Amino acid sequence: MRNEVIIAGGGIAGLAAAVALTDAGYRVRVVEAGRMPGGRALSLHDETRGDAVDIGPHVLTSEHRNMLALLGRLGTAREIDWQPQRFITLVDDGEAIPMKNHALPAPLHFLPNFLRVRKLAASDILSARRTLYRVMRMNEADVLAMDDRDAESVLRGLGVSENFIDWFWRTVCMAIMNVPLEECSAGSLMRFLWMMSARGDFHFGFPRIPLGELFVPMATKLIERGGGSVVTGVAVRAVQCSGRGVQSVALSDGQTIETRRCVLALPPQALQGLLPAFVEQDYQLDRFRTSPYISTWLWFDRRFTEEKFWARIWSPDNLNYDFYEFANFRREPLSTPSLIGSNIIYSDRAAQLDDEAIIARTREELAEFAPASRAARLVHARVHRISMAICAPHPGFEARRPEVRTRVPGLYLAGDWLRTELPSSMESAVRSAYLAVEALAADDALTVRAALPRREPHGISALLAREKAAPRSSPRS
Ligand SMILES: Cc1cc2nc3c(=O)[nH]c(=O)nc-3n(C[C@H](O)[C@H](O)[C@H](O)COP(=O)(O)OP(=O)(O)OC[C@H]3O[C@@H](n4cnc5c(N)ncnc54)[C@H](O)[C@@H]3O)c2cc1C
Repeated sequence: MRNEVIIAGGGIAGLAAAVALTDAGYRVRVVEAGRMPGGRALSLHDETRGDAVDIGPHVLTSEHRNMLALLGRLGTAREIDWQPQRFITLVDDGEAIPMKNHALPAPLHFLPNFLRVRKLAASDILSARRTLYRVMRMNEADVLAMDDRDAESVLRGLGVSENFIDWFWRTVCMAIMNVPLEECSAGSLMRFLWMMSARGDFHFGFPRIPLGELFVPMATKLIERGGGSVVTGVAVRAVQCSGRGVQSVALSDGQTIETRRCVLALPPQALQGLLPAFVEQDYQLDRFRTSPYISTWLWFDRRFTEEKFWARIWSPDNLNYDFYEFANFRREPLSTPSLIGSNIIYSDRAAQLDDEAIIARTREELAEFAPASRAARLVHARVHRISMAICAPHPGFEARRPEVRTRVPGLYLAGDWLRTELPSSMESAVRSAYLAVEALAADDALTVRAALPRREPHGISALLAREKAAPRSSPRS
């Protein structure tokens, strides 16, 4: 069919692309290998308790602009429980430290929080000033220039004290970048610091409904209403194309679909061997590493905190970093008064532990923040081992992230790992999808405006900001 687009992958990137293309008048066919759409933002039904649990706890931020635009289109944006006052509660050796956005011009809005941390001396806080100035002046070209260096040595080179590195940077790096500081691209980490400090209103939000329900049911309905379809349990096995364009897509059920346009909304591991060699050679797919997670879900017979979300300060012995009390933000009642979710990030260090050991250690770490949880009865537990939460942003990652347009006319890539100028996340996935849709439409001589840029900086950060974008390159330009 003339206007048909095949989309491989029914994660949030694939479905966002499908909805935007449907809105632009294309007929889409989404082909998803799994039993249901959702990918790494999937929600599952717990057979024992009857509750929906996400693959692992997820948060949105005020910078998830493209994702929020998608949710707006799907009518689910109101299902986010925002926490604008309290930025986060950090837990350090059993002490809860609330962190807030103070009414000071960015990037000073965070400063008063550090002044109240007993473990940080004034000299530690002052040692961050050169980093902060450098970050405020950064643009995407600087991100790429720093990409081959590790964040730990760059911070040391900028004079940040060891104490501040351990307390703040190691925590942020694990929690947000999902890799240890010494293994993180300096460019990736500094870009996140820019996002956090450019505006005084960066904050988190939590899905009031199961994560997958934010986008899967309504996206599917809109796609079908536009004459398209979402097929599950079928994988794309190969994309046949020549230098002149896409010809067909071969599926695992034996079908071959002739098409001129295809969006591959797949992680790099799934792309390997699926593209013709002359296309795959443009990407170093085997060099993308993963950050695995272990997410633990604990059902208790009583609730012991009013907090929605807290994160533990880095320590070499940590298993879990972030904890969530779903009973404090889920709209529908749960089967027990408390449902705790937690994430063991970059979880190789826990790979040898069995579920029982993970649950026991997770309860210990939970009790550091909520001692009352020791007396609570554990009604049910499940442990999810997830081979990839995101691609690990090791040094060199940013430079390897591909653009959405491939060298083959009609063939586009999407997914959280593409070059979106954002950390890999649901937001990056949706932005990549919108960039792919814009490129596809432009190649058909149509104008579609879908992708939103990062928000503008405020305060002192705005005065210091330089132009944001690095010059873009594409395999075909
Ligand atoms: C536990 C956990 C916690 C996270 N926390 C956060 C968070 O707090 N905030 C945040 O923004 N992000 C978070 N993320 C990351 C976020 O989930 C991902 O960035 C996002 O979901 C990626 O979406 P995607 O569509 O790019 O890829 P995917 O979701 O991986 O989608 C790709 C899809 O393609 C399918 N597929 C694979 N091969 C084929 C094939 N050959 N043919 C057809 N289909 C195929 C897969 O089954 C999958 O459904 C977290 C991830 C995890 C796992």
